[in-house]
Amino acid sequence: MRVFDDEGAEVDSTFMIEVHGDDLSLVVESRGGTVGTASARNTEYTRGFTILLRRLSDLGATVTDAAVDSRGTKNVAWSDRRLSPVPARLGEIADIDELAKALMRSQGRVGQEPGAKGGNTTRRMRLLLDVPGYTPDDATRLERDLAHAPAPEQRRPGRGPVLAKPKADDDLPATYDGPTDLAVRLMRRGEQPILRRGLLQGRTEAPCALCGEVLPVNALWAAHIKRRSACTEDERRDLANVAMLACLFGCDWLFELGYITGADGHYVATDEAVAPAISARLDSLDGRAIPGWDGRASYFAWHREHVFRGRGATAKPA
Ligand SMILES: [Zn+2]
Repeated sequence: MRVFDDEGAEVDSTFMIEVHGDDLSLVVESRGGTVGTASARNTEYTRGFTILLRRLSDLGATVTDAAVDSRGTKNVAWSDRRLSPVPARLGEIADIDELAKALMRSQGRVGQEPGAKGGNTTRRMRLLLDVPGYTPDDATRLERDLAHAPAPEQRRPGRGPVLAKPKADDDLPATYDGPTDLAVRLMRRGEQPILRRGLLQGRTEAPCALCGEVLPVNALWAAHIKRRSACTEDERRDLANVAMLACLFGCDWLFELGYITGADGHYVATDEAVAPAISARLDSLDGRAIPGWDGRASYFAWHREHVFRGRGATAKPA
């Protein structure tokens, strides 16, 4: 399988997800041949490997073990071809690029005499994985999910054709900078890893900013309070305030579709007629304190104005 970058362009880097013992494993194929000739293969080894590690990080994966896995080392004991550092909980590692380089550098030492100069750092390697939500039966699915940046449909369970389009899509602000709904989604998706890393600060679990439940990384979404397309450059960089972690169990959906907003430091639910299950959920959130309100007040003001479905003509927050 080839790696495709976040813009959908093919990267010259080949990998496989295989079952290895009882574990899922990532096999990264070696770089080889001479650049500029037909023999060149996997010339973007480093870039492809880094993209794969980032996507695994976003899935909350752990690299439990790793080793060089070239033909020449097949009969060498795993412990003699082990890479470092392992294990690596990717969600807790701030600099994934540096981790990729460290693992690659450690390949150079495998099979080398002590004191020898660094060897080949772009060999075939195998990383054993623990990925939340994926069992060894899911190798094909994981391979597909790693090859491409996640599609919004895949990471947004519960969103289906029966759901109404968000109201705000009809009155996007003048600064709307994408030609289609799809472009907006792609843009949101592209920034998600950065946002999420910024909000998580290395944590593997964090509370949902709305319901307060402490949940693992892959159950949380970095939700923009003020839509990115409406933000100034400075606001876009104000990651800690302009976005918040909202759980995929419903809070993110309720907020994005404007069923709930914030005013005066508290969450405010719409009084629009909704299905009983939604109403019960809204009741549990209505009136809860909003963490970090002072820095977020202006962004919530935008959300109230542009996304919130309202709370009757008189009670709608100013
Ligand atoms: Zn929640």
